[in-house]
Order: sequence, then C-alpha cells, then structure tokens
Amino acid sequence: MTSNNDILFARAQLTTPGGVNSPVRAFRSVGGTPRFVTRAHGPYFWDADDKRYTDYIGSWGPAIVGHAHPVVVQAVQDAAANGLSFGAPTEGEVLMAEEICRLVPSIEQVRLVSSGTEATMSALRLARGATGRDKIIKFEGCYHGHADSLLVKAGSGLLTFGNPTSAGVPQDFVKHTLVLDYNNPEQLEDAFRDMGDEIACVIVEPVAGNMNLIKATPEFLSTMRRLCTQYGAILIFDEVMSGFRVALGGAQSIYGIVPDLTALGKVIGGGLPVAAFGGRADLMQQMSPVGAVYQAGTLSGNPVAVAAGMATLKLIQVPGFYEGLSAQTLRLVQGLTAAAESHGIAFCADAIGGMFGMYFSAQVPVNFAEMMASDKTRFNTFFHAMLDRGVYFAPAAFEAGFVSAQHDDAVIDATIDAARSAFEELAL
Ligand code: PLP
Repeated sequence: MTSNNDILFARAQLTTPGGVNSPVRAFRSVGGTPRFVTRAHGPYFWDADDKRYTDYIGSWGPAIVGHAHPVVVQAVQDAAANGLSFGAPTEGEVLMAEEICRLVPSIEQVRLVSSGTEATMSALRLARGATGRDKIIKFEGCYHGHADSLLVKAGSGLLTFGNPTSAGVPQDFVKHTLVLDYNNPEQLEDAFRDMGDEIACVIVEPVAGNMNLIKATPEFLSTMRRLCTQYGAILIFDEVMSGFRVALGGAQSIYGIVPDLTALGKVIGGGLPVAAFGGRADLMQQMSPVGAVYQAGTLSGNPVAVAAGMATLKLIQVPGFYEGLSAQTLRLVQGLTAAAESHGIAFCADAIGGMFGMYFSAQVPVNFAEMMASDKTRFNTFFHAMLDRGVYFAPAAFEAGFVSAQHDDAVIDATIDAARSAFEELAL
C-alpha cells in the first residue's frame, strides 16, 4: 500500500525545495521518507497514515510540556480571539519581559524577536556595536542559526579565520569569524593572547545541542568568562536550545556563569515563534530606539505567540517540574544504555534536564571531532528500526533529543522495550 507520507513528500518536492521548510526534516541524513504530521498530543504525534509515534524531538525543543497542552491551547485561543497582531505594544510583552528577567537574572533587559536566528544575529550586532570591533569567536559544532557571520566552520590552520558552511555567505563576513574547538580552554587563551583586543564577542552554546548533546566543561566556560572580561569582549550564551530546557534558569544557572548577553528561543514560545536576546542593561540600552544598534520585527512580540510562551513559562514553574523532567530523561538514557549493553553494542548516552544525547561510540564525546567519529551508519539503522516501532528520534546522528513532561514511566518504558528489540536487530 502506498503511504500517504510518500504521496505528500512527492507533491511537496514539486513546490518546495527538497519538500521541506527546514533541511533536517527531509531525512537526507538517515534516508527514507519524512513523516508528515497531522496532529500531536502529549508525548505523541500521528503521521499522514495515522501511525502514532512517541516524539523525542518536541519541535526541536519547544514542546517541553507536551503537545497541545490544554493550558497553552486555551491561552492561544483566548489571545487569538482578541486579534492576531497589532504592530503596537501590548501588556503581554511587558509581562513576558518581566518574567524572562526574573527567571534569568543575567538578563536585565530583553528584546523579543521571532526566531533564534534573529536573536543571535541581533546579539552579535549589539556586541559589535558596543565594542566597535568586528571579530567574533565561535566553536566548531555549535549552531547559532543561519546568519551570515555564523555559518562558518574552522579554517585550515589553528587560529585562522573560518570558511563558509553555505554558498552565498561572503568571504568578507566569515573573515571576521574565528572558529575554535569546543571544550579547549588553552586554544581560547591562545586566541585572546594573539588578538584579544580585536574580539567583539565570544558566542557559545553552554550546553551544545547541535552536535548531538555535548556539555561544556566548567573550566571551558569559566576561562571564557575570564578572558572576555579581561579583554573587554562580550560573552554571549546562546541558550536558544538550553534555556528553560536544562534548568529553569538555563545552563548559566547550572554552571554559575554570568554572560553579558543571552539568546533565547524555543521553549519561550511554547511552540509558536518567540525568541529573545537580552542581558546587561548598559548593553541593551544601545539598541534602537534608545541606542544606535538597529533591530526590528513586524511580528516581534506577537500577542498569540507571547500568550503561548507565557502559558508555557507558567507550567514549567510548577514545583518539581524539572526534577520530574530530569528523572524521566535519565530513565530513558539509562534504559537505552542497558538495552544496548545487553546486545554488546558500543553505545552510550548523556542527559541534562530534559535534553539527551545518544552516541554510537564507546565514550561520550567532548567536541565536534569526537562526535563525528561516532558510528553514523549504526545510528541510521537504529533510527529506522525505532521509527518502524513507532518511536521518533531526531533524523540525524548529530542532533540532541528532547523529553517532555508528558513522557511518563509507561511511555519511556515502551521506548526502552522498542530499543531492546531494535538493538537486537542491530546485533544480528
Ligand atoms: N541557536 C541554537 C542553539 C539553536 O539550537 C537554534 C536552532 O536550532 C538556533 C540558534 C536558531 O533558531 P531558529 O531555528 O529559531 O532560527
């Protein structure tokens, strides 16, 4: 029988490049046909053939309270009934700014935008505007959205400026981006010693979620903080993924490190387009209309999106929320690890808050090169074996996974059962 997913995918490719509106959805890395989602509820979604999947992507992070949570849906319906967008300020934006500043104390002032890309791009412009410097440092394997200055990978030599990771990114932009190894404080020291006075900012995912899950070492982040302060560079934590996901106060609350600026997204929109950047008030006061750094957005602070975000932020503050989420995520990774071990498969996993990584390698990787050395072919076989069994992991070996508050013991245990049988198939 022909799958409705196949039919939709064939049609989609006629009018949309690759049939998708964001590349990783296309299954290029794992092969096969992407599932077209018709509806989602709690920890599950259903595809165009009405097959149910346990969802470990959660819209790539936002769905932390589960899909179609009644409180969030009600908030969206109430807001929508009062108009969809005004292009004028609303009380909801004031409440959301106050809430973000309260929950993430390093953020004294904040600006709402509509995507993580806008948040990091604007934070970068602010750092450059505030310091009067052009050069920036990022780390191999960290993803910060698709702004030109950030689509850059390491150059040929140590401490040489980078190469674009996309056609259409001018060399004139990437020549200002230095790409260093994640979790390598010595290399960072060298870079600052060489050119510290020219560096506008360092941007980092304090818990990396775009080269699978890789946690920063405390030393890496504290060295970064010290060097930025010493050389007058701005430290930007990109917590678009880790914010409200690894802990209520983000990764910065776990590591106890105060960045100058933070980028947020995903969870703060509860599934609708809200992102934000914020930090030190003296820096944020340099944003237009008070300061000289320009940034704007027709739909920024959209009332419906803000309502979804505020409802989500309320739900994650229920006492015990993160304890529960972390426990379920740990239950998942421990179960998966034990299942792989029982079949003699080189596999390990890691977790922090509601985020996890699975690696077909003997040890948890600490940087991009180690991550790339894991067994991608085995991951792809595992991915499809799990998909067949109704479990939807990220369709690429180098992506993190996400658990929601609706993934209860029964849901997690069913996933572990499925994994046991998938690993058995892999071991054959
Ligand atoms: N920064 C991080 C850490 C991300 O994970 C992402 C997206 O996955 C972005 C920025 C870009 O966000 P968006 O896709 O909303 O533009």
